Amino acid sequence: MPTETFEFQVEARQLLQLMIHSVYSNKDVFLRELVSNASDALDKLRLEALRDDSLDADVSDLHIEIDTDGDARTLTVRDNGIGMSYDEVGQLIGTIANSGTARFLKELKETKDAAGDAEGLIGQFGVGFYSAFMVADEVTLLTRRAGEKQGTRWSSRGEGTYTLETVDDAPQGTSVTLHLKPADPENQLHDYTSEWTLRDIVKRYSDFITWPIRYVRKAADGDDTPEPETLNSMKALWARPRDEVSDDEYHELYKHISHDWRDPLETIRLQAEGTFEYQALLFLPSHAPHDLFTQGYKRGVQLYVKRVFIMDDCEELLPPYLRFVKGVVDAADLSLNVSREILQQDRHIRMIQRRLTKKVLSTVRDLMNKDTERYAGFWREFGAVLKEGLVTDADNRDAILAVSSFASTHSAEEPTTLKDYLERMQDGQEDIYYLTGESRQAIENSPHMEAFRAKGIEVLLLTDPVDEVWVDAVGTYEGRKLRSVAKGEIDLDGKDEEAADTGRNEEYAGLLDWMKERLAEDIKEVRLSNRLTVSPACLVSDAHDLTPALENMYRAMGQ
Ligand code: ADP
Ligand code: MG
Repeated sequence: MPTETFEFQVEARQLLQLMIHSVYSNKDVFLRELVSNASDALDKLRLEALRDDSLDADVSDLHIEIDTDGDARTLTVRDNGIGMSYDEVGQLIGTIANSGTARFLKELKETKDAAGDAEGLIGQFGVGFYSAFMVADEVTLLTRRAGEKQGTRWSSRGEGTYTLETVDDAPQGTSVTLHLKPADPENQLHDYTSEWTLRDIVKRYSDFITWPIRYVRKAADGDDTPEPETLNSMKALWARPRDEVSDDEYHELYKHISHDWRDPLETIRLQAEGTFEYQALLFLPSHAPHDLFTQGYKRGVQLYVKRVFIMDDCEELLPPYLRFVKGVVDAADLSLNVSREILQQDRHIRMIQRRLTKKVLSTVRDLMNKDTERYAGFWREFGAVLKEGLVTDADNRDAILAVSSFASTHSAEEPTTLKDYLERMQDGQEDIYYLTGESRQAIENSPHMEAFRAKGIEVLLLTDPVDEVWVDAVGTYEGRKLRSVAKGEIDLDGKDEEAADTGRNEEYAGLLDWMKERLAEDIKEVRLSNRLTVSPACLVSDAHDLTPALENMYRAMGQ
């Protein structure tokens, strides 16, 4: 096949422009991204070889190699991993397949001063492979998928187009060659042909990578080619003593496994010894991924068996409501061949899940007690998903409630816990009141709120879809009922609402009957109420009816 030229998708082109003219100050991270991709490719090949005996691939010396040429000003990162087929290169490298990237661009468009804020956005989304264009004016990728005969060469200057051609003699795996821009230390553009620069970057960002990252030195004239030197320690961070590992090292591992460019909020370590030995290193991210509530969201942590990577997204290790937690579990006594089916039935895996769940919840609790600000950030990002556990995980319901907080009429800024709500309850108040709705503002403007406002009774303002569901599932807290102010009859004065004033009922009987008749199709009943102070009327549902927001939610789900 001859060389073919393709146009980048519009989005890809914009992204590349951004990379090329990047104001992102830390350009060194391009190497972390390339090494991270190479490491993933080696993991994938080892797994595929384990599962498929007939795969015609060489897995005898899986490694990553870094190779430089100072005269040609090139840097190559090479792996002998899974590689990509011709079609895969087009899909994975030529387009923006990654939905995170699409969103990145959308946000970028919405940001007025695109260039000025690009750094913040890159930090939020990361752009993987394309980050090579921060330091290179031309990138060539040569790859051959393990088991296939033909290879593919992809090349681009990062402008409008890239080329693809098939290649007959490509080695298994992928090599990415950057033609480097001139060094420009003032703009954080270092000399990436320098051995010392590379050593330093690898040590800083990729030391824990479990595959050897070798630096290939050129032979001086007439000498034998020197042995390549391994730059990283390859030590699994979770297996090293706590006090030997710096926070930065943990954070780099987090970035590698989560593909997030930001630091995590919290690192959690766990060791279990005895009959079933395992180590876990979990991270609470600092920001929720944009697709957390979509169906395709890949949840789960990585599973290793005795330092060998077994699978990504191992769902069995954490319940769905902790799907935002990233990390690694390394179990000593599982088979390397373990399948998802086996995991689903494994008693030990269920034990690990229980223990990890408790540990995550107790970590959130510690945050809440010791570091209010970070807790508040955590809750803002992940409260909506954690509350799903109130419905699905009865065993941990109390622990989840204890770390939950809710917007409330008590304060415009600070959410409250149920515990604090109880302490502020008025004399004679029996129940915990809440109202659900689309936004705080919508709820506050609801006529249902009038009497509560007038009497100074605190109401929780619940705006997440899941709120509709958990309040029913939980029902009571410390013996107090959770009651919607929009449901049933509300008795704020200790008197029955309807019987509030029989004289008035008689006085308005004519009007009430007339309204009942006119609205017979739409409502069940018309009654005088003392829950309003300003509005003339409001709609109320029966105590056991669905609230309007929940009705909307079911309707949206087509039920
Ligand atoms: P991410 O790693 O977050 O998926 P990247 O932009 O870094 O995004 O890479 C895009 C995709 O290209 C990867 O998911 C992978 O499928 C493929 N890829 C990149 N580098 C390699 C490599 N060295 N070997 C095999 N596949 C690769
Ligand atoms: Mg990547």
